Order: sequence, then structure tokens, then C-alpha cells
Amino acid sequence: KQYGVNELRKMFLEFFEGKEHLAMKSFSLVPHNDNSLLLINSGMAPLKPYFTGQEIPPRKRVTTCQKCIRTGDIENIGKTARHGTFFEMLGNFSFGDYFKHEAIAWSWEFLTEVVGLEADRLYPSVYLEDDEAFDIWNKEIGIPAERIYRFGKEDNFWEHGSGPCGPCSEIYYDRGEKYGCGKPDCKVGCECDRYIEVWNNVFTQFESDGKGNYAELEQKNIDTGMGLERLATVVQDVDSIFDVDTIQALSRKVCEISGKEYKKKYEWDVSIRIVTDHIRSAAFMISDGIMPTNEGRGYVLRRIIRRAARHGRLLGVEGQFLADLSKTVIEGSKDGYPELEEKKDFIFNVLTQEETKFNKTIDQGLVILGEMEASMEKDGVKELAGGDAFKLYDTYGFPLDLTKEILEEKGFTVDEKSFAEAMQEQKVKARSARKATNYMGADVTVYESIDPAVTTQFVGYDRLVHDSKI
Ligand code: ATP
Ligand code: MG
Ligand code: MG
Ligand code: MG
Repeated sequence: KQYGVNELRKMFLEFFEGKEHLAMKSFSLVPHNDNSLLLINSGMAPLKPYFTGQEIPPRKRVTTCQKCIRTGDIENIGKTARHGTFFEMLGNFSFGDYFKHEAIAWSWEFLTEVVGLEADRLYPSVYLEDDEAFDIWNKEIGIPAERIYRFGKEDNFWEHGSGPCGPCSEIYYDRGEKYGCGKPDCKVGCECDRYIEVWNNVFTQFESDGKGNYAELEQKNIDTGMGLERLATVVQDVDSIFDVDTIQALSRKVCEISGKEYKKKYEWDVSIRIVTDHIRSAAFMISDGIMPTNEGRGYVLRRIIRRAARHGRLLGVEGQFLADLSKTVIEGSKDGYPELEEKKDFIFNVLTQEETKFNKTIDQGLVILGEMEASMEKDGVKELAGGDAFKLYDTYGFPLDLTKEILEEKGFTVDEKSFAEAMQEQKVKARSARKATNYMGADVTVYESIDPAVTTQFVGYDRLVHDSKI
């Protein structure tokens, strides 16, 4: 049977509720009391205090479907079948309660019996030295030894500096030859999208001192994560996460707006998927109160929105389209995330504002960047001067990452050091300009708080005041 994304989410949570787990709502994308992380990137991240024992969990067994952002995957988006900057992670967690036997058995039961995936297409992997997990898969679940992969630390050991850590067991699904890279050694673990990783079971059984010493934890934990979109991809037997029911509604809309047909031309497909993914990220981030700015999470959001806008241009879309698209995101996901519906006007307004700002300058900026490229070409230079990148940033609102990315496509780089210097210089100028304005009795601080560098108009005004004072 073909289950939809919203159905699968419910099935997962109900399955684990049936195993005495407490189903908790997704936490915000903005970490709470955690400076080590810009944005929540896994189901486990907001539960850290329960794992470390800092806080007492409401129950020893918890299950969630957590919204996640992984900007580290941004380069993959649209190119692999399985990565989004935004995705939902299904998870079941044990805080010193059940351990490997139950976790493995339940993941198997869910995939094969509840969802109905073919057992013959599933392949578990375990950590090289984790004979315990190997034996559970082999003897208790009955998977032949040759179908169980043993991988090293890089893939199958979860560890972040010091603290609780441990081996993991990932579950892969074979989507068949048509998704393979065709290389003779293509098998589980290959980077192509044939054997797709759907679920990761982490067994936090050690405490690491960060120097290579591992002590057995008294309280052993389970932390698992399965991408909901990936699960839906294999269940619905579609090409990629962009083709599952809820997301397909969105990618269709992108095609409609741009007048481009999907699966016609590789470059278009990449852009269609990037826009599709980024608008999801943006809508969810805004619904959690993040605003586009030039720093921290605000910068992540701004970069994502502007990158989407540029890919819209590559698809031939003129004018604004992102705010409108967010309606389709809300429609598709409000089932699981009612906050989207509650904040829909806010999401719409923030996107409209940000897009309006960038729209005024993006086309001109792209022309200027094209000219810079042409002159680099002519002079045989490979690196864009920092001052030029800064001009694109300051006058045309191009985040440095966007400029870098566009240039990379043509084999160019940016002199980031001199970009930083230009930025610093501007800050000093702005500071003395502020003094000058205060002298005249005006209050610039309120504009400052709105984000000086991108309200270009205002930077201009700042400068004007500054110049006239000198
Ligand atoms: P991959 O190797 O495919 O990049 P991962 O090993 O980085 O995945 P984990 O950190 O183990 O992923 O996260 C747990 C699960 O979350 C994965 O098994 C996968 O189903 C899902 N997941 C991870 N990253 C993404 C992403 N960028 N988009 C969608 N789902 C993801
Ligand atoms: Mg990854
Ligand atoms: Mg992996
Ligand atoms: Mg993994």
C-alpha cells in the first residue's frame, strides 16, 4: 500500500506509543539553552539534557518527529535523491531504559510489518567491533551474515567531542539497479542513491573523555533517526525525496510558475529541487521566529531565501514567487505542524519583504557579477577581489556564499580575506556615521536593529551623512 507522508508520520508515532513511548511534539528549530548548535539538526539534539542526565525526561521512552535543518548538506541539494536542507526526522529514544535488542527488533518490525517493505531489500550495517548488534541482526532477526555490513568509525560510530557516544546500526534499502551508479563495486555504503540509508540506530553506551578513552555508561541510551521523506521515498517507490506526495505538490508548483517541465533537463531539475527544498526550510524557519539577517541563523535563512530566488531566475521566473510558494508548503505540512497555519500571514509577509528587497538588486547584481567574471576571464585571474565581492554584498545584497557558489560553477574563487577587510572597514565607517547622525539629533539605532547592511538604502543614507560631515 502507498502511504502518504502525513500518514507515515502518524504510523511511526503510534507504533512507538504502542511500545509505551511518550509522543512529544517537534521542538522548535531554534535550540533552547544550547550554544553549540545554530539550528536543530536531529531528533536527538533537543533531547540532549535527558541523555546527559541534566534534566529528568517526562518518560524513559520518548518518540518524536522532529523538524531538522542541515545546512551542511546544502551542496548536495538537488543533486542527490536523498538530501534536503530541511527534513523531518522520526525517532524513538530510550533514556536508560531498553537497549539494542528492543531497538533493533522494533525498527525491523516497523519497516517490514507496519510499513510493509520487502525484507530482502533491507540491509543493516553495524560498527566494526559491535558483535552484539551483529548477533542480534543475525540470530534474533534472522538476517544472513553476508547481508550485514560492518563499517568503521566514520559511518557507524556516533561521537561529538567528549560525552556520551556509541556505535550505531544503520538500515539501508536497495531501490534497485535503475538507481545505481553502475560501478562494479556498487554496494551498501556506495555514495550513489541505490542503497539509500533510511534509519540510524545509535546505541549510546560509552562515555568518552575526548582523548580516546571509553568507559561503559551505567545508563545506556537509545537514540534513533529516520528521515520521514526518505522513508516515504522508498515506500512510494519514487525517484527522490522531491517526488513524495507532499513535496511533489510543491515541485509541481515550481514547474508551473517557471513554465519548466520536470525531468527534461538536468540543470532545470537541480534548480527545481533547490527551490522546492529551500522554500520548505524558509517557511519552517520563519514559523519558528527566525528572521532574515546577516548573522547566525538569520544569515542561514537569508542565504537560503536568496539562493532560492537565484535558482528561480535560472528557471526563468521573473519577479517574486517565493511567498506564494510558501502557501503550498503550509498546505502540505500543516497536518503535522499546525504552527505553519497559525503563522501563515507572518510567513507570507516576511518572505514578501525579503524577496522585495532582493528583487530590487538581484538582476543588476547578476549582470555586474557577469561583468566581473568576463574581466577575470580576460585577465586570466582565478580569484575575485574581496572588494568586488563586498560590492555585490553591500550594494546588491548577495550573501558571500551565493557569490562564491555562482563563481565556483565557473571555476573561480573569492578572496575572502580581503572581503572580510572590506566588511570591517565599512563597519568602522558606519560607526563614525552613527556618531555624526546622533550629533544631528537623529536616532539611527532603530534602523541598526533592522539590519544595516541589507537595507541598502539605509547604508546609503548612513554614508551620505558620513560624507557630508567630513
Ligand atoms: P547520509 O549518509 O545519507 O547523508 P547521514 O548518515 O548523514 O545520512 P544521520 O545523521 O544518520 O544521516 O541521520 C539519521 C537519518 O536522517 C538518516 O538515516 C536519514 O534517513 C535522515 N537524513 C539525514 N540527513 C538528511 C537530509 N539532509 N535530508 C533528508 N534526510 C536526512
Ligand atoms: Mg549526511
Ligand atoms: Mg550516512
Ligand atoms: Mg547515518
